Amino acid sequence: MINQILNKTQFSKQDILTLLSVKGDERTMLFEKSASIKQEYLGNKVYLRGLIELSNICNKNCYYCGIRKDNKKVNRYNLNDTEVLNAAKFAYENKFGSIVIQSGEIQSETFTKRILYLLRKINEISQNKLGITLSLGEQNKEVYKKWFEAGAHRYLLRIETSDRNLYHKLHPNNDLHSYDKRLEALTHLKEIGYQTGTGVMIGLPYQTLDSLADDLLFMKHFDIDMCGMGPYIEHADTPLYANRDALLPVKERFEMTMKMVALLRIMMKDINIAATTALQAIDKVGREKIIKIGANILMPNITPGKYRDSYTLYQGKPCTDENADDCKNCIEARIKIAGAEVAYSEWGDSPHFKHKH
Ligand code: SAH
Ligand code: SF4
Repeated sequence: MINQILNKTQFSKQDILTLLSVKGDERTMLFEKSASIKQEYLGNKVYLRGLIELSNICNKNCYYCGIRKDNKKVNRYNLNDTEVLNAAKFAYENKFGSIVIQSGEIQSETFTKRILYLLRKINEISQNKLGITLSLGEQNKEVYKKWFEAGAHRYLLRIETSDRNLYHKLHPNNDLHSYDKRLEALTHLKEIGYQTGTGVMIGLPYQTLDSLADDLLFMKHFDIDMCGMGPYIEHADTPLYANRDALLPVKERFEMTMKMVALLRIMMKDINIAATTALQAIDKVGREKIIKIGANILMPNITPGKYRDSYTLYQGKPCTDENADDCKNCIEARIKIAGAEVAYSEWGDSPHFKHKH
Protein backbone atom coordinates (compact mmCIF):
# COMPACT_ATOMS: atom_id res chain seq x y z
CA MET A 1 0.00 0.00 0.00
CA ILE A 2 2.74 2.48 1.00
CA ASN A 3 4.87 1.25 -1.88
CA GLN A 4 2.11 2.10 -4.30
CA ILE A 5 1.97 5.65 -3.00
CA LEU A 6 5.75 6.02 -2.96
CA ASN A 7 5.95 5.06 -6.62
CA LYS A 8 3.45 7.67 -7.79
CA THR A 9 4.75 10.58 -9.82
CA GLN A 10 2.58 13.07 -7.94
CA PHE A 11 1.21 12.92 -4.42
CA SER A 12 -2.34 13.92 -3.64
CA LYS A 13 -3.03 15.60 -0.34
CA GLN A 14 -4.38 12.33 0.98
CA ASP A 15 -1.15 10.56 -0.03
CA ILE A 16 0.83 13.17 1.87
CA LEU A 17 -1.33 12.77 4.95
CA THR A 18 -0.85 9.01 4.82
CA LEU A 19 2.91 9.34 4.44
CA LEU A 20 3.19 11.84 7.29
CA SER A 21 1.58 9.24 9.55
CA VAL A 22 3.70 6.17 8.70
CA LYS A 23 5.30 4.09 11.45
CA GLY A 24 7.60 1.07 11.75
CA ASP A 25 8.46 -0.68 8.46
CA GLU A 26 6.50 1.79 6.40
CA ARG A 27 8.46 4.63 7.95
CA THR A 28 11.69 2.83 6.98
CA MET A 29 10.39 2.46 3.41
CA LEU A 30 9.66 6.19 3.22
CA PHE A 31 13.18 7.09 4.36
CA GLU A 32 14.78 4.54 2.03
CA LYS A 33 12.87 6.00 -0.87
CA SER A 34 13.87 9.60 -0.11
CA ALA A 35 17.50 8.58 0.48
CA SER A 36 17.64 6.81 -2.87
CA ILE A 37 16.12 9.79 -4.68
CA LYS A 38 18.67 12.07 -3.11
CA GLN A 39 21.46 9.73 -4.21
CA GLU A 40 20.09 9.49 -7.73
CA TYR A 41 19.48 13.20 -8.33
CA LEU A 42 22.12 14.88 -6.17
CA GLY A 43 24.71 12.26 -5.35
CA ASN A 44 26.61 12.10 -2.13
CA LYS A 45 27.79 15.67 -1.77
CA VAL A 46 26.92 18.07 1.01
CA TYR A 47 27.53 21.76 0.33
CA LEU A 48 28.53 24.23 3.00
CA ARG A 49 27.18 27.70 3.70
CA GLY A 50 29.07 29.54 6.42
CA LEU A 51 26.38 31.28 8.46
CA ILE A 52 27.07 34.84 9.57
CA GLU A 53 24.52 36.13 12.06
CA LEU A 54 24.96 39.79 11.25
CA SER A 55 22.78 41.30 13.96
CA ASN A 56 20.04 40.37 16.41
CA ILE A 57 18.46 43.78 16.19
CA CYS A 58 14.97 43.29 14.80
CA ASN A 59 12.08 45.60 14.18
CA LYS A 60 9.50 42.81 14.22
CA ASN A 61 7.64 40.99 16.93
CA CYS A 62 6.99 37.45 15.70
CA TYR A 63 5.46 35.68 18.71
CA TYR A 64 7.77 32.65 18.47
CA CYS A 65 11.14 34.31 18.17
CA GLY A 66 13.62 34.97 20.97
CA ILE A 67 15.11 38.09 19.37
CA ARG A 68 11.77 39.83 18.73
CA LYS A 69 11.80 43.57 19.26
CA ASP A 70 9.94 43.58 22.56
CA ASN A 71 12.17 41.03 24.28
CA LYS A 72 14.08 43.36 26.57
CA LYS A 73 16.30 40.59 27.92
CA VAL A 74 18.34 40.31 24.70
CA ASN A 75 21.81 41.84 24.50
CA ARG A 76 21.57 43.49 21.11
CA TYR A 77 24.62 43.41 18.87
CA ASN A 78 25.54 44.37 15.37
CA LEU A 79 28.75 42.91 13.93
CA ASN A 80 31.06 45.58 12.61
CA ASP A 81 32.18 45.47 8.98
CA THR A 82 35.59 44.03 9.86
CA GLU A 83 33.98 41.17 11.78
CA VAL A 84 31.70 40.34 8.84
CA LEU A 85 34.51 40.52 6.32
CA ASN A 86 36.79 38.41 8.49
CA ALA A 87 34.09 35.76 8.76
CA ALA A 88 33.65 35.81 4.97
CA LYS A 89 37.40 35.52 4.57
CA PHE A 90 37.43 32.56 6.93
CA ALA A 91 34.76 30.87 4.81
CA TYR A 92 36.68 31.57 1.62
CA GLU A 93 40.03 30.41 2.95
CA ASN A 94 38.51 27.27 4.38
CA LYS A 95 36.88 26.44 1.06
CA PHE A 96 33.29 26.73 2.25
CA GLY A 97 32.05 27.70 -1.20
CA SER A 98 29.21 29.88 0.06
CA ILE A 99 28.06 32.04 2.94
CA VAL A 100 24.67 33.06 4.31
CA ILE A 101 24.19 36.48 5.87
CA GLN A 102 21.24 36.39 8.25
CA SER A 103 19.85 39.05 10.55
CA GLY A 104 16.89 40.44 12.41
CA GLU A 105 14.71 42.44 10.05
CA ILE A 106 15.58 46.10 9.54
CA GLN A 107 14.20 48.13 6.67
CA SER A 108 16.21 51.30 6.26
CA GLU A 109 18.32 53.10 3.74
CA THR A 110 21.37 52.76 6.01
CA PHE A 111 20.84 49.00 6.25
CA THR A 112 20.34 48.65 2.48
CA LYS A 113 23.56 50.54 1.80
CA ARG A 114 25.49 48.63 4.39
CA ILE A 115 24.56 45.32 2.79
CA LEU A 116 25.52 46.69 -0.63
CA TYR A 117 28.90 47.69 0.75
CA LEU A 118 29.42 44.30 2.38
CA LEU A 119 28.43 42.43 -0.78
CA ARG A 120 30.95 44.38 -2.84
CA LYS A 121 33.69 43.90 -0.28
CA ILE A 122 33.04 40.17 0.08
CA ASN A 123 33.21 39.75 -3.67
CA GLU A 124 36.47 41.67 -3.70
CA ILE A 125 38.02 39.55 -0.94
CA SER A 126 36.95 36.30 -2.60
CA GLN A 127 37.43 37.38 -6.22
CA ASN A 128 33.74 36.65 -6.74
CA LYS A 129 34.29 33.05 -5.78
CA LEU A 130 32.02 32.86 -2.72
CA GLY A 131 28.37 32.10 -3.28
CA ILE A 132 26.25 34.56 -1.28
CA THR A 133 22.83 33.84 0.21
CA LEU A 134 20.91 36.53 2.07
CA SER A 135 18.32 35.99 4.78
CA LEU A 136 17.41 39.50 5.83
CA GLY A 137 13.66 39.29 5.98
CA GLU A 138 11.09 41.27 4.01
CA GLN A 139 12.36 44.22 1.99
CA ASN A 140 10.85 46.12 -0.88
CA LYS A 141 11.47 44.93 -4.40
CA GLU A 142 13.96 47.67 -5.26
CA VAL A 143 16.11 46.73 -2.29
CA TYR A 144 16.07 43.04 -3.24
CA LYS A 145 17.03 44.07 -6.75
CA LYS A 146 19.95 46.22 -5.66
CA TRP A 147 21.36 43.43 -3.54
CA PHE A 148 20.92 40.96 -6.39
CA GLU A 149 22.77 43.25 -8.76
CA ALA A 150 25.56 43.60 -6.19
CA GLY A 151 26.14 39.85 -6.27
CA ALA A 152 23.75 38.11 -3.87
CA HIS A 153 22.09 35.33 -5.80
CA ARG A 154 20.14 33.30 -3.29
CA TYR A 155 17.60 34.42 -0.70
CA LEU A 156 15.98 32.59 2.18
CA LEU A 157 12.62 33.79 3.43
CA ARG A 158 10.52 31.24 5.24
CA ILE A 159 6.78 31.46 4.85
CA GLU A 160 6.84 29.99 8.41
CA THR A 161 3.46 28.37 7.73
CA SER A 162 1.40 28.42 4.55
CA ASP A 163 -1.73 28.36 6.71
CA ARG A 164 -3.04 31.91 6.75
CA ASN A 165 -5.02 31.47 9.96
CA LEU A 166 -2.10 29.92 11.80
CA TYR A 167 0.21 32.64 10.44
CA HIS A 168 -2.01 35.24 12.06
CA LYS A 169 -1.88 33.41 15.38
CA LEU A 170 1.92 33.54 15.27
CA HIS A 171 2.28 37.22 14.47
CA PRO A 172 0.85 40.55 15.62
CA ASN A 173 -2.05 41.69 13.52
CA ASN A 174 -0.51 44.61 11.64
CA ASP A 175 1.06 45.61 8.35
CA LEU A 176 4.55 44.64 9.41
CA HIS A 177 3.47 41.04 9.90
CA SER A 178 1.11 40.44 7.00
CA TYR A 179 0.82 37.02 5.36
CA ASP A 180 0.13 38.64 2.00
CA LYS A 181 3.23 40.78 2.21
CA ARG A 182 5.34 37.74 3.06
CA LEU A 183 3.97 35.99 0.00
CA GLU A 184 4.51 39.06 -2.15
CA ALA A 185 8.13 39.33 -0.98
CA LEU A 186 8.72 35.71 -2.00
CA THR A 187 7.22 36.41 -5.40
CA HIS A 188 9.48 39.44 -5.86
CA LEU A 189 12.57 37.38 -5.05
CA LYS A 190 11.63 34.86 -7.69
CA GLU A 191 10.86 37.55 -10.28
CA ILE A 192 14.22 39.24 -9.73
CA GLY A 193 16.02 35.98 -10.39
CA TYR A 194 17.19 34.86 -6.98
CA GLN A 195 17.38 31.18 -6.21
CA THR A 196 14.50 31.40 -3.81
CA GLY A 197 14.31 29.45 -0.61
CA THR A 198 11.51 29.15 1.85
CA GLY A 199 10.46 26.85 4.63
CA VAL A 200 8.26 26.35 7.64
CA MET A 201 8.46 25.62 11.33
CA ILE A 202 7.25 22.18 12.31
CA GLY A 203 5.39 21.38 15.51
CA LEU A 204 3.96 24.84 16.12
CA PRO A 205 1.14 25.10 18.61
CA TYR A 206 -2.19 24.38 16.87
CA GLN A 207 -0.49 23.25 13.65
CA THR A 208 -2.32 20.26 12.19
CA LEU A 209 -1.14 17.45 9.96
CA ASP A 210 -3.44 18.89 7.35
CA SER A 211 -1.66 22.21 7.53
CA LEU A 212 1.77 20.53 7.20
CA ALA A 213 0.53 18.68 4.11
CA ASP A 214 -0.51 22.04 2.68
CA ASP A 215 2.95 23.42 3.45
CA LEU A 216 4.50 20.75 1.23
CA LEU A 217 2.01 21.45 -1.54
CA PHE A 218 2.67 25.18 -1.17
CA MET A 219 6.40 24.67 -1.71
CA LYS A 220 5.72 22.46 -4.71
CA HIS A 221 3.29 24.93 -6.31
CA PHE A 222 5.45 27.94 -5.59
CA ASP A 223 8.23 25.96 -7.25
CA ILE A 224 10.91 26.87 -4.73
CA ASP A 225 14.60 26.27 -5.39
CA MET A 226 15.72 25.74 -1.81
CA CYS A 227 14.20 24.83 1.51
CA GLY A 228 15.14 25.24 5.14
CA MET A 229 12.61 23.85 7.56
CA GLY A 230 13.00 22.76 11.12
CA PRO A 231 11.24 22.08 14.37
CA TYR A 232 9.68 24.93 16.31
CA ILE A 233 11.44 25.21 19.66
CA GLU A 234 9.77 27.29 22.34
CA HIS A 235 11.54 30.25 23.94
CA ALA A 236 10.58 31.35 27.45
CA ASP A 237 10.76 35.08 26.71
CA THR A 238 8.21 35.04 23.91
CA PRO A 239 4.40 35.28 23.87
CA LEU A 240 4.01 31.88 22.22
CA TYR A 241 5.55 30.24 25.28
CA ALA A 242 2.15 30.55 26.94
CA ASN A 243 0.96 27.84 24.51
CA ARG A 244 3.66 25.34 25.43
CA ASP A 245 1.14 22.88 26.85
CA ALA A 246 -0.30 22.49 23.37
CA LEU A 247 3.02 21.33 21.91
CA LEU A 248 4.07 17.88 20.79
CA PRO A 249 7.08 16.50 22.70
CA VAL A 250 10.33 17.68 21.01
CA LYS A 251 11.16 14.16 19.83
CA GLU A 252 7.90 14.07 17.91
CA ARG A 253 8.57 17.46 16.35
CA PHE A 254 11.92 16.08 15.28
CA GLU A 255 10.32 12.96 13.84
CA MET A 256 7.78 15.05 11.94
CA THR A 257 10.62 17.15 10.51
CA MET A 258 12.29 13.97 9.25
CA LYS A 259 9.10 12.99 7.46
CA MET A 260 8.57 16.46 6.03
CA VAL A 261 12.11 16.50 4.60
CA ALA A 262 11.77 12.98 3.20
CA LEU A 263 8.47 13.88 1.53
CA LEU A 264 9.75 17.14 0.12
CA ARG A 265 12.78 15.34 -1.31
CA ILE A 266 10.48 12.90 -3.10
CA MET A 267 8.18 15.69 -4.31
CA MET A 268 10.97 18.07 -5.37
CA LYS A 269 13.86 15.86 -6.34
CA ASP A 270 16.48 18.42 -7.36
CA ILE A 271 16.04 21.31 -4.92
CA ASN A 272 18.55 22.14 -2.19
CA ILE A 273 17.36 21.21 1.28
CA ALA A 274 19.21 22.36 4.39
CA ALA A 275 19.81 20.35 7.53
CA THR A 276 18.83 23.15 9.90
CA THR A 277 20.48 23.98 13.21
CA ALA A 278 17.26 23.63 15.23
CA LEU A 279 17.41 19.89 14.51
CA GLN A 280 20.70 19.66 16.29
CA ALA A 281 19.23 21.41 19.32
CA ILE A 282 16.90 18.44 19.77
CA ASP A 283 19.17 15.58 18.73
CA LYS A 284 22.97 15.84 18.76
CA VAL A 285 23.19 14.00 15.45
CA GLY A 286 19.92 15.39 14.14
CA ARG A 287 21.41 17.14 11.15
CA GLU A 288 23.28 13.99 10.16
CA LYS A 289 20.06 11.99 10.27
CA ILE A 290 18.39 14.48 7.97
CA ILE A 291 21.31 14.45 5.55
CA LYS A 292 20.95 10.69 5.29
CA ILE A 293 17.34 10.88 4.23
CA GLY A 294 17.33 13.89 1.95
CA ALA A 295 19.09 17.12 2.95
CA ASN A 296 22.20 18.21 1.04
CA ILE A 297 23.13 21.55 2.62
CA LEU A 298 24.80 22.30 5.94
CA MET A 299 25.17 25.76 7.42
CA PRO A 300 28.07 25.82 9.88
CA ASN A 301 27.96 28.86 12.12
CA ILE A 302 30.91 31.20 11.52
CA THR A 303 29.63 34.15 13.56
CA PRO A 304 32.38 35.37 15.92
CA GLY A 305 31.97 33.22 19.06
CA LYS A 306 31.27 36.00 21.55
CA TYR A 307 28.05 36.98 19.80
CA ARG A 308 26.54 33.56 19.34
CA ASP A 309 24.88 33.50 22.72
CA SER A 310 22.90 36.56 21.75
CA TYR A 311 21.39 35.21 18.53
CA THR A 312 18.97 32.98 20.36
CA LEU A 313 15.94 32.54 18.15
CA TYR A 314 15.01 29.56 20.33
CA GLN A 315 16.36 27.92 23.47
CA GLY A 316 19.14 25.35 23.56
CA LYS A 317 20.75 26.55 20.35
CA PRO A 318 23.82 24.35 19.77
CA CYS A 319 27.47 25.41 19.39
CA THR A 320 27.06 28.87 20.90
CA ASP A 321 30.24 28.30 22.87
CA GLU A 322 32.37 27.34 19.88
CA ASN A 323 34.40 29.42 17.49
CA ALA A 324 34.49 29.03 13.73
CA ASP A 325 37.57 26.78 13.79
CA ASP A 326 36.00 24.27 16.19
CA CYS A 327 32.94 24.28 14.03
CA LYS A 328 34.90 23.54 10.89
CA ASN A 329 36.72 20.64 12.51
CA CYS A 330 33.54 18.96 13.55
CA ILE A 331 31.93 19.21 10.10
CA GLU A 332 34.02 16.58 8.32
CA ALA A 333 33.44 14.04 11.03
CA ARG A 334 29.73 14.77 11.15
CA ILE A 335 29.21 14.50 7.43
CA LYS A 336 31.08 11.22 7.34
CA ILE A 337 28.71 9.84 9.99
CA ALA A 338 25.93 10.60 7.57
CA GLY A 339 27.73 8.59 4.87
CA ALA A 340 28.15 11.73 2.76
CA GLU A 341 31.04 13.81 1.52
CA VAL A 342 31.81 17.53 1.93
CA ALA A 343 32.06 19.48 -1.31
CA TYR A 344 34.77 22.10 -0.87
CA SER A 345 35.03 25.36 -2.80
CA GLU A 346 31.83 24.66 -4.72
CA TRP A 347 28.81 26.92 -4.75
CA GLY A 348 26.40 24.05 -4.84
CA ASP A 349 23.63 26.03 -6.52
CA SER A 350 20.17 24.55 -6.62
CA PRO A 351 20.06 22.09 -9.55
CA HIS A 352 16.32 22.77 -9.73
CA PHE A 353 16.99 26.43 -10.46
CA LYS A 354 19.50 25.52 -13.14
CA HIS A 355 17.10 23.10 -14.78
CA LYS A 356 14.38 25.77 -14.91
CA HIS A 357 16.62 28.31 -16.60
N1 SAH B 1 14.62 37.93 10.41
C1 SAH B 1 14.73 37.04 9.31
C2 SAH B 1 15.83 36.01 9.47
C3 SAH B 1 16.14 35.56 10.86
S1 SAH B 1 14.95 34.53 11.63
C4 SAH B 1 13.40 36.35 9.06
O1 SAH B 1 12.57 36.31 9.95
O2 SAH B 1 13.21 35.88 7.94
C5 SAH B 1 15.24 33.01 10.78
C6 SAH B 1 14.24 31.92 11.05
O3 SAH B 1 14.32 31.48 12.39
C7 SAH B 1 12.79 32.31 10.91
O4 SAH B 1 12.39 32.29 9.57
C8 SAH B 1 12.08 31.26 11.77
O5 SAH B 1 11.54 30.22 10.98
C9 SAH B 1 13.20 30.70 12.65
N2 SAH B 1 12.81 30.77 14.06
C10 SAH B 1 12.51 31.86 14.78
N3 SAH B 1 12.09 31.52 16.03
C11 SAH B 1 12.13 30.15 16.08
C12 SAH B 1 11.79 29.19 17.09
N4 SAH B 1 11.35 29.57 18.28
N5 SAH B 1 11.95 27.88 16.80
C13 SAH B 1 12.41 27.50 15.58
N6 SAH B 1 12.72 28.36 14.60
C14 SAH B 1 12.59 29.68 14.84
FE1 SF4 C 1 12.71 39.24 13.70
FE2 SF4 C 1 13.01 37.15 12.02
FE3 SF4 C 1 12.74 36.79 14.68
FE4 SF4 C 1 10.62 37.61 13.26
S1 SF4 C 1 11.71 35.62 13.05
S2 SF4 C 1 11.30 38.46 15.22
S3 SF4 C 1 11.64 38.91 11.76
S4 SF4 C 1 14.42 37.79 13.63
